[in-house]
Amino acid sequence: MPLARAAAHVHSDWSYDGNWPLPALATALRRCRYDAVLMTDHDRTFDADRWDAYREECGRASDGILLVPGIEYSNAENSVHVLVWGANAFFGPGLPTAELVTRARESGGVTVLAHPRFKDAWRRLDEPTLASLDGVEWWNRRYDGIAPSPLAVSVLRHRATVPFVGLDFHMRRQFFPLAMRLGVDGVLDVDSVFAALRQHKFQATAFGVPVTRVVHEPALSGLRAADLAKQKGHGLARWVKREVSRMRP
Ligand SMILES: [Zn+2]
Ligand SMILES: [Zn+2]
Repeated sequence: MPLARAAAHVHSDWSYDGNWPLPALATALRRCRYDAVLMTDHDRTFDADRWDAYREECGRASDGILLVPGIEYSNAENSVHVLVWGANAFFGPGLPTAELVTRARESGGVTVLAHPRFKDAWRRLDEPTLASLDGVEWWNRRYDGIAPSPLAVSVLRHRATVPFVGLDFHMRRQFFPLAMRLGVDGVLDVDSVFAALRQHKFQATAFGVPVTRVVHEPALSGLRAADLAKQKGHGLARWVKREVSRMRP
């Protein structure tokens, strides 16, 4: 499988604010034609034992689709959230972000800054931490809506940030045509996904095109207008609605 289509940033009922069991998520996202799911349940109810149980449960629920275990870590102030996959340990909730990123990376983890606009998270990171991240969410479905983050347009694309897109899935209306295309070598399994993420063999896409193209102004202002005019039957809004309904399970 040269390219695997992955839904990224997905919460299950293992998160305090999620209510989708892993098997139900697997079924629904398989119907959306994803090959894999980059899970990101919240750190705050986890410890080492629960992390082991969760990884096993992800394996059991991987039926026709691969559920890749991961954690969304928050700092103690709950102002910066970092998604981590592929680390060989659970680091505990509420760690300072710089420490979390260092420890995750030292243990083979891949780190992505989630929703950088939320509480101005982007500005709270020091430069070395920012530079050591594997990715930044240019588009988070939950916080940014049906257009990419204005921050991605004005700031992120002018810096050396690697784009990521995330559903931040908690509920049905957050199904949306955002996907990470992963360059997986050999069999699609947890290890080959981690390898692709570590080597940055991935591309963030929206509606099937690279998000780096979508953030160019004309397309973007179209999407913004569609977002504003959602209720008014705007042509682009209708197109977005049709695309979304096509992929919904
Ligand atoms: Zn978050
Ligand atoms: Zn989240």
